[in-house]
Amino acid sequence: MAHPPVVLVTGASSGIGRACVDAFLAQGARVVAAARRTDRLDELAAQHDGAVLPLALDVRDRDAVNAALGSLPENFSPIDVLVNNAGLARGRTPLHEDDPDDWDQMLDTNVRGLLNVSGAVLPGMVERGSGHVINVGSNAGREVYPGGTVYCATKAAVERITRGMRMDVLGSGVKVSEVDPGMVETEFSVVRFHGDQQAADAVYEGVTPLAAQDIANVVTWIAGQPPHVVIADVLVYPLDQA
Ligand code: NDP
Repeated sequence: MAHPPVVLVTGASSGIGRACVDAFLAQGARVVAAARRTDRLDELAAQHDGAVLPLALDVRDRDAVNAALGSLPENFSPIDVLVNNAGLARGRTPLHEDDPDDWDQMLDTNVRGLLNVSGAVLPGMVERGSGHVINVGSNAGREVYPGGTVYCATKAAVERITRGMRMDVLGSGVKVSEVDPGMVETEFSVVRFHGDQQAADAVYEGVTPLAAQDIANVVTWIAGQPPHVVIADVLVYPLDQA
């Protein structure tokens, strides 16, 4: 019997990443759940008796990423599906009022982090001639909104990287996809507003945001297509988001 697929989800400690872990587990996959808050990952692993490998990972640290992903235990390798989900926004001010540290966090996590993890996983996929990279972009990659200059730029970079990656691996048997969520209720806005819950809640005024599970459903749908079908890019909006 073929072994269950192995899925690596970055940013698995909350929100969309956590929902992806649950969705892939429900389909019988083994999941490498990666993030920095390992207490949450350990809790998750304890609930799933051997099906989850909690992995302490800061995607910004290339050496650490290479070391961690280069030494996965046999029953959690090779990676069949990589969900590049770790990401964040910081601040909602005009560029000239931004804290430059926030730029660094967004660029280092959303762009360099995605490259670091892809760089550690993709060569093996290409060598084996199979695998699927699913990048989590954003509607923010397709537009720009006030106070979102750098975040939108990072997500536009994710879109370019996804398209380029797909061309780079063409003919190898590896699939590359992107899912672009609109508003999803997670810890995203609280992180963006540096813990200010009121400011975070105000973002959803007039909109019923998606649940993380809604995006996880799309991610598993993308991953579950027949071998000859690639879902290249999907935009997923709440019903009432403009
Ligand atoms: P959450 O804040 O709930 O989750 C973000 C996840 O990313 C956490 O698990 C966090 O884990 C992880 N993460 C952040 N920095 C790092 C890092 N340096 N290394 C490893 N993991 C990291 O937000 P969402 O679930 O909403 O966000 C998931 C993705 O969805 C992001 O890429 C975001 O940009 C995108 N997105 C979200 C939307 C929304 O409205 N919520 C809309 C469009 C896109 P930890 O802190 O434990 O490391």
